[in-house]
Amino acid sequence: MRRAMSGILKRKFEEVEASSSPCSSLRESDDEVSCSESGDSSDSVNPSASGPFTPDSILKREKRLRTRRVHFENVTVYYFSRRQGFTSVPSQGGSTLGMSNRHSWVRQYSLGEFALEQERIHRDMLRDHLKEEKLNSIRLKLTKNGTVESEEANTLTSEDISDDDIDLDNTEVDEYFFLQPLTTKKRRALLRSSGVKKIDVEEKHELRAIRMSREDCGCDCRVFCDPETCACSIAGIKCQVDRMSFPCGCTKEGCSNSTGRVEFNPIRVRTHFLHTIMKLELEKSREQQQ
Ligand SMILES: [Zn+2]
Ligand SMILES: [Zn+2]
Repeated sequence: MRRAMSGILKRKFEEVEASSSPCSSLRESDDEVSCSESGDSSDSVNPSASGPFTPDSILKREKRLRTRRVHFENVTVYYFSRRQGFTSVPSQGGSTLGMSNRHSWVRQYSLGEFALEQERIHRDMLRDHLKEEKLNSIRLKLTKNGTVESEEANTLTSEDISDDDIDLDNTEVDEYFFLQPLTTKKRRALLRSSGVKKIDVEEKHELRAIRMSREDCGCDCRVFCDPETCACSIAGIKCQVDRMSFPCGCTKEGCSNSTGRVEFNPIRVRTHFLHTIMKLELEKSREQQQ
């Protein structure tokens, strides 16, 4: 949001120049609009609030032809404690993850510090993941792929795995790795470790009802849709087929819905995804070459 704001400020800079400055650091550097990436934007929404501003030397200087650029100095991170969510519908289970209404603390980083912090968090996540994988493989070995009981396998936890047992430095994962959905069990464990003493089971029931209601859609036509009887056609909406006979049961050839019919094409979505990734990779390598 702040980025967008800075963009607007940049464009309007010529207009506001004479009255006030959106950022204090403008006085130090006249070719770069410098803003910290902070959630608090009251200063730029209402610049006059900060009192009368006497424009200094910047106005007296010759206008340079150099283009003005926006750059960022800081990252302000607001930390929120974790709470049961009641906000999302995961594909399984209840206990969604949410956050409290107000942040509990704020920390400001330089861009470099923030990159390091992200790297540290990602390394911790990867370490946990590798330890869990190692633990599973040890368990499988001890129980001979789950065919025999093993006291040792039952008592082992990921804390028994040392950092030497995993190869953290030679494991490469992409950014998507850190955005994987969490299982119900993991969500519950996260909530408990965040101090949620009692997980409200009501959420689980509500989510089940929502998921079921989402299944209950589309027309009841089988193979053929007659526009006179097809619920979609009567309602004036297109038939939609996301996967085999869901939500609508008609086929491309059999559907005569007068509004039309759309079919989800996973190959088209996949191709679009691959194209986008390729484009991004290309941009990245170009940037690195510069
Ligand atoms: Zn239909
Ligand atoms: Zn149809």
